[in-house]
Amino acid sequence: MKDKSVIIIGAGFAGLSAGIYAQMNNYSSEIYEMHNLPGGLCTSWNRKGYTIDGCIHWLVGSSPKSGMYRLWQEVGVAKGRKFINLEEFKRYECPDGRTLIIYSDIDRLKNHLLEFSPQDEDAIEDFCRDIRMFTSFDQPSDTDPLVKKMQKNIKLGLMMTFRGNKMKKLLRTTAREYFSRFKDPVLREALEEVWVPDFSIMFMLFTLAWLHEKNAGYPLGGSLPMSRALEKRYTELGGKIHYRKKAEKIIVEQDKAVGVLFSDGSKKYSDVVISAADGYSTIFNMLEGKYADEKTKQPYESWKIFPPLVYVGIGVNRSFEQEPKTVSGICYKLNNPIEIAGVEINNLTVHPFNMDPTMAPDGKTSLVVMLPSGYQYWKKVGEDRAEYEKEKDQIAAKIIGALEQRYPGITSQVEVLDVATPLTFERYTGNWQGSFEGWLITPENSYTLMKRMSQTLPGLQNFYMCGQWVEPGGGLPTSVMSGRRLVKTLCREDKKKFNTSIV
Ligand SMILES: Cc1cc2nc3c(=O)[nH]c(=O)nc-3n(C[C@H](O)[C@H](O)[C@H](O)COP(=O)(O)OP(=O)(O)OC[C@H]3O[C@@H](n4cnc5c(N)ncnc54)[C@H](O)[C@@H]3O)c2cc1C
Repeated sequence: MKDKSVIIIGAGFAGLSAGIYAQMNNYSSEIYEMHNLPGGLCTSWNRKGYTIDGCIHWLVGSSPKSGMYRLWQEVGVAKGRKFINLEEFKRYECPDGRTLIIYSDIDRLKNHLLEFSPQDEDAIEDFCRDIRMFTSFDQPSDTDPLVKKMQKNIKLGLMMTFRGNKMKKLLRTTAREYFSRFKDPVLREALEEVWVPDFSIMFMLFTLAWLHEKNAGYPLGGSLPMSRALEKRYTELGGKIHYRKKAEKIIVEQDKAVGVLFSDGSKKYSDVVISAADGYSTIFNMLEGKYADEKTKQPYESWKIFPPLVYVGIGVNRSFEQEPKTVSGICYKLNNPIEIAGVEINNLTVHPFNMDPTMAPDGKTSLVVMLPSGYQYWKKVGEDRAEYEKEKDQIAAKIIGALEQRYPGITSQVEVLDVATPLTFERYTGNWQGSFEGWLITPENSYTLMKRMSQTLPGLQNFYMCGQWVEPGGGLPTSVMSGRRLVKTLCREDKKKFNTSIV
C-alpha cells in the first residue's frame, strides 16, 4: 500500500528528482509537464543531423570519488555515462596577439597566467591559492558510511575554523570586484568574459577547483540523454509522467493545497502538491499571489537573475578537430562590433562541440554562440511576430558575419542556423524572464548559502517547491539536491526514514 499521493508540476531535473525520491520512499507520485519532453532547461534539439545542445557545459560531481557522484547514481544519470575532462575551461584571444587560456589544471593555469602578465604576480598567486582552497571541499552526505562522514565533518570543521572568514569574504565578492585588482587591462577584460561579472567569485573558484579535480566533466551525448535517464529512472520506480499537461492553478481548500487545475480544464487531486516549475508563475499565477508575504516577494523585486540569452546553434560542414576542446568556448575581439538586441557586442565566444562526436555527422561540427540579452527588449519585439522573426534572421546573419573573422569561409559551410531568444526559453520552460539558471548569488543574497530558501509558502499546507527558483546559484546538481531535500522533509514530517537506492 502506497503512502500519500503526490502531484509534481514540471519534469525538469528538480521535478524528476523529486519524483524519483518520492517513489523510493513509497509515495505515489505523478508528474505533469507542459512540454512533450523531460528535462526542462536541460535539453538539446536535432536539426538535419546536428544536435544543438541547450545546456550542459560541465556536470559537478562527475568523479566517482566525489560525494555528489552518489546522487547521480541515485537518479540514474551516472549509469553507463562517459564523462570527459577537458584541459581548458575557456580561451580568450586578445587583440594584441596574446591568448589567455584558463586551464583546468591549477599549476598549469598559474604558470600560464604568470607568463601572460608578470606584473600581476600577487593577484595570480592569490587567485590560484583561492582555487586550491576549494579543492579539498567535499560535503558530507547522508549516505556516507559513518567513518567517512566523520572524516568529512572534521575536515569541513577545520576548513571553516581556519578559512571561514576568507570564504565568507569571497562569497560576498562579485567576479567583477575580484578581478578589478588585476593590473593588466587585457587580462582583466578577458577574466570578465569567463564568468558572469555579477555572480559571486566563490562559484568560479569552486568550478575551477572541481575542474582541477576532474569532478566537473562533460557527459558525452550532452543534455537530453541525461534528462531521458532521469525519466527512465522515475518510470522504472513506478512513477507516471503526463506530457503536454500545463498546470494553470493550484487548487486550494481552507489553506491546504489539494490538487491542480490544468489548462485543458481537467483537475487532479492529491495529498501533496509540489511545484518544480518556475517560481514566479507558481507563486503569483498558479496561487494568485495569495501566499506571497514580503519575504517571498523580495527576491522577485530585488535579486538579480542569470541573464536571459540569445542562443545561436549552428551546424557547419567543417571539421573543428584542430581547434581547442574547451568547456566554455573560445572568445575573440571583433574587428567590427555588432549590435545584438540593442547591445553592442565587442567580444564573441563560440563554443564548438568538437569534444563530442555524437553532436554532428563525421567531419561536421555543432557550434553554439550564447549572448546575454535583455528580456524587456524581446518582450517588446515579440509583440509583432514578423518583426520578431526579422530580428532573429538579422542576428543569425550578424553572428555568421562575425564568425567569418575567426573562421574564414564559414558562411558557405553553414547547414543549420537556429536562433533562440529569451522568449523561446520562456515559452519552452516557463522560466521567469527567460532566465537560464534562476537567481545569481550576489553579496545581497549570499546568506542563502547557509540559510536556505524555504521550500514552502507561509500559511499554505501540503504545498512545496523545488528547483532553481528556491536554490540560488541554480544548476543541475542543485536541482537534484532540491528535489531530494524536499522528499527528505516530507519523510521527516510523515515520521518515515528517508531511503535511497542507486543504479
Ligand atoms: C545555456 C545553459 C547552460 C547551462 N549550463 C549548465 C551547466 O553546464 N551545468 C549545470 O549544472 N547547469 C547548467 N545550466 C542550468 C541548468 O540547466 C538549470 O539550472 C536546471 O536545469 C534547472 O532545473 P529545474 O528543474 O530547476 O528547472 P527547469 O529545467 O526550468 O524545469 C522546470 C520544468 O517545469 C515545466 N513547467 C513550467 N511551468 C509549468 C506548468 N505550468 N505546467 C507544467 N509544467 C511546467 C517546464 O516545462 C520545465 O520542464 C545551464 C542552463 C542553460 C540554459
